[in-house]
Amino acid sequence: MSLYNTQQIKIYNTLSGEKEVFQPITEGYVGMYVCGPTVYSNVHLGNVRTFMSFDVIFRYLKHLGYKVRYVRNITDAGHLENDADVGEDKITKKARLEAIEPMEIVQRYTVDFHNVLNTFNFLPPSIEPTATGHIIEQIELIQTIIDNGLAYVVNGSVYFDVHKYNESNEYGILSKRKLEDLIHNTRELDGQSDKKNPQDFALWKKAEPTHIMRWPSPWSDGFPGWHLECTAMSTKYLGDYFDIHGGGMDLKFPHHECEIAQNQAAKGQTPVKYWMHANMLELNGARMSKSTGNYINPGELITGDNDIMSKAYNPSVVRFFMMQASYRSVLDLTDAGLSAAEKGHHRLMDAIDLTDSLKTGSSSSFNIIEWKQKCYEAMNDDFNTPILIATLFEAVKFINQIKDGSATVTSEDLTILKDTLETFAFSVLGLVNISNENTGTDKLSKAVEILINLRKEARINKDFALSDKIRDELAEAGIQLKDSRDGTTFSIQ
Ligand SMILES: [Zn+2]
Repeated sequence: MSLYNTQQIKIYNTLSGEKEVFQPITEGYVGMYVCGPTVYSNVHLGNVRTFMSFDVIFRYLKHLGYKVRYVRNITDAGHLENDADVGEDKITKKARLEAIEPMEIVQRYTVDFHNVLNTFNFLPPSIEPTATGHIIEQIELIQTIIDNGLAYVVNGSVYFDVHKYNESNEYGILSKRKLEDLIHNTRELDGQSDKKNPQDFALWKKAEPTHIMRWPSPWSDGFPGWHLECTAMSTKYLGDYFDIHGGGMDLKFPHHECEIAQNQAAKGQTPVKYWMHANMLELNGARMSKSTGNYINPGELITGDNDIMSKAYNPSVVRFFMMQASYRSVLDLTDAGLSAAEKGHHRLMDAIDLTDSLKTGSSSSFNIIEWKQKCYEAMNDDFNTPILIATLFEAVKFINQIKDGSATVTSEDLTILKDTLETFAFSVLGLVNISNENTGTDKLSKAVEILINLRKEARINKDFALSDKIRDELAEAGIQLKDSRDGTTFSIQ
């Protein structure tokens, strides 16, 4: 018997606005689709948080014994700068600015995306399809929607007819919007647009003569619409109706709304049983944005090469920090929060290490079985990782009491305790025990601090030759010193 027979998960379904008991469409199997990145720039921390939430959900479902097929796509064409189907394709624009092939852009940022996710100990998805690898499927899908009377062709482009669709379906069902309100709130089309109505969206766009990324189709040489890609790739690998579709909150409208409409139009049914949306990551209480400077990228956060945090944070500490909030809450990234997470991470790993050397006795002063079930209940309740972490810390406290001699444990219970802690910390939350690794880093940090102090003395003594020599030789060894009014900090490359 699999664990999923004894553990009942509840998932907050955006579609119903309620927590619902999770019952997969096919017993024992889960199909999960998550909208992947558009690979035209480095992945940012907000995306890392979103994908991490679904990584943990994937891990937990697997742990329960489900056979999970997790599909996360790569958008390598068709994502325009603007939701109203105007502006350039994001990848083409970047390629033009850098005067290189669009596929070089795609390659560079796909590699970056995978590197960052590996750094944060992500499991790879089961399938990672690309939009450009599924052009034929997308053309077929568009043809079906045209045949069903819910899309129209104008000047080589194809648009989804939202108004016609809404006559017998509910456009806005996911994001709780009404078409009448959308009409009221959208500007009139300027004479340039081919669309019948501003709410219509592109399924296929005719390419301008200079547009490099283009494919032949019955309507024009062009490229597919972004919303369409996800419908084509999700249903190809998961079927016309599948269990879980996830993504960031910002994708709810119009992207996911359009996916529902396309599936209804092409296949006569809604695509997804449980819609899940992950919330935003802020930085020091405000929206992260490159233009305001309130921004830090994943690499800068873990090397410490930034002006926002006081030091470098290990990727596992960042992961622990992110898991301290529910995926549905806004999370504020701060130096104080990360620093506290670092201490928490240490305490948890120290306790796990201690389980190997604890003395066992004839009785336990802690109900291990009850505690273990509490860990499952936390995750069963819409993957509530903060409650799970709080429950793991009940065990940390108990372990420290056993060590002090103020509590006892039987050897049988100790085995369950250790296994459960390791399962949830490593397999489910995806943390890494960095205690050994850290000793090395700590020693290195102390050595660099000594050199920084020697350099300071040299400067006080006006021995600038020595002070520069220390700085330059450290730089050669890959250790950058950074002087500021508050003193000197360093980062290790
Ligand atoms: Zn998508």
